[in-house]
Amino acid sequence: MKILLVYPDYEETFWSFKRVLRILGKKASFPPLGLLTVGAMLPDDWEKRLVDMNTDILKDEYIKWADYIFISAMIVQKESVRRIINKAKKLGKPIVAGGPLFTTGWEEFTDVDHLVLGEVEETFPAIVEDLKNGAPKKMYSSNGFPDIKEVAIPDWNLINVKNYNSMCVQFSRGCPFNCEFCDVVQLNGRLPRMKSKEQLIAELETLYRRGWRAGVFFVDDNFIGNKAILKKEYMPAIIEWQKKKKHPFTFNTQVSINLADDKELMELMIEAGFTAVFIGIETPDADSLEECGKFQNKNRNLVESVKIIQNCGMEVQGGFIVGFDSDKVSIFQRQIEFIQKSGIVTAMVGLLIALPKTRLYQRLKETNRLTKKSTGNNTKTSSLNFIPKMDKNVLLAGYKKILSTIYAPKAYYERIRTLLREYKPAKKKPQNFNALRIYHIRALVGSIWWLGIKQRGRLYFWKLILWSILKRPSLFPYAIGLSLTGIHFRAIL
Ligand code: SF4
Repeated sequence: MKILLVYPDYEETFWSFKRVLRILGKKASFPPLGLLTVGAMLPDDWEKRLVDMNTDILKDEYIKWADYIFISAMIVQKESVRRIINKAKKLGKPIVAGGPLFTTGWEEFTDVDHLVLGEVEETFPAIVEDLKNGAPKKMYSSNGFPDIKEVAIPDWNLINVKNYNSMCVQFSRGCPFNCEFCDVVQLNGRLPRMKSKEQLIAELETLYRRGWRAGVFFVDDNFIGNKAILKKEYMPAIIEWQKKKKHPFTFNTQVSINLADDKELMELMIEAGFTAVFIGIETPDADSLEECGKFQNKNRNLVESVKIIQNCGMEVQGGFIVGFDSDKVSIFQRQIEFIQKSGIVTAMVGLLIALPKTRLYQRLKETNRLTKKSTGNNTKTSSLNFIPKMDKNVLLAGYKKILSTIYAPKAYYERIRTLLREYKPAKKKPQNFNALRIYHIRALVGSIWWLGIKQRGRLYFWKLILWSILKRPSLFPYAIGLSLTGIHFRAIL
């Protein structure tokens, strides 16, 4: 059996960083972890090949070579998926498709030969058996949330790791919270399920053996979903492994804001090599937080919580949303002020969108407020897929105003300075932190060329560089990295 695993390309979103990656000589931010895991689950005697369309071209000859085309995709890859389906159909090759796009929106893909809904671990043995027997079913559906203690270790040999800015691992699935707009609970459940400690370490070891020595992103929905067991078992294991290997990796992940309440956990994360966390802040407005059920963000000083984490030694990246029913027109200015004050440089501000199967989707459907299907890209004004309470034009104009303000050079470099003032990185640097690589030279030269010579806002860039050399020289590479990221944010405005 010959299986072609295809990962569709995605358009420019907050997460894509395409322009910056080009400067750094990389092709994509992250590898397709789900497909790499599926690749590892295929029988040993089957031939397999993986094409990530974000790094390579999907040639007709690859499709012709295969017996089956396996696709895994998120909602934001929908358009690319449609093109792949058409291509495969034209060449007469059957498709097996899974992942969040199909799990929450399979009704749009009834022309796909075989659909895999839900998490694949439970259904995969049956799929393989049916493929062997030449009688695969139209649909495989896993309604429960399987144990992930012993899932397959991704087959990293299917990709060229050098194409990517960061590698990925997954430690857990699920999140104990239940925000109205989020599809994590529907996809992965509220009870965090974790891999075994041994499994997690084996995955890190595999990446290490593959020669990787840089950043690793824990793709978990909420890394701190079960803090007690994380502190007791997993963090000590990661720390021990990092020490044994002389700290080859830096880590980043996604967490909820209550990380700020747990000093012990933050210190363990720093010791393990975590340098940044992404947090869904969403909004400084208490009514909007109440409306979307983000109770963990309520009744706290959010700026203070962010600063506690920065002071401890991790950069905080933040997600923000406008378009809640409770939002007043003052929300746009409040979001700008909050973002500037918090020193969240990587502030990903999006419009509220109703993703399929979420509680928000259901509520809007019941009140006839849905207007179209979601594209999954919440940064485009055209992506608004429901009738907002606020006048639509006011909402879209206010949203654009936030983006054009916070990513304008003056505000952006000011935020970097605010962050660098608060940020207290770990004293002991990871191995890869100090090693000068071509990657760093490209970042320095690229930033000087693009930000110091070519683009507008040059003066602010040079002021930041000077300030950083004089006041925070140890964080100079960090200032360069954050400055470069600004190119991406200004490009997607
Ligand atoms: S905390 Fe984050 S992952 Fe968890 S339900 Fe809310 S938005 Fe989703």
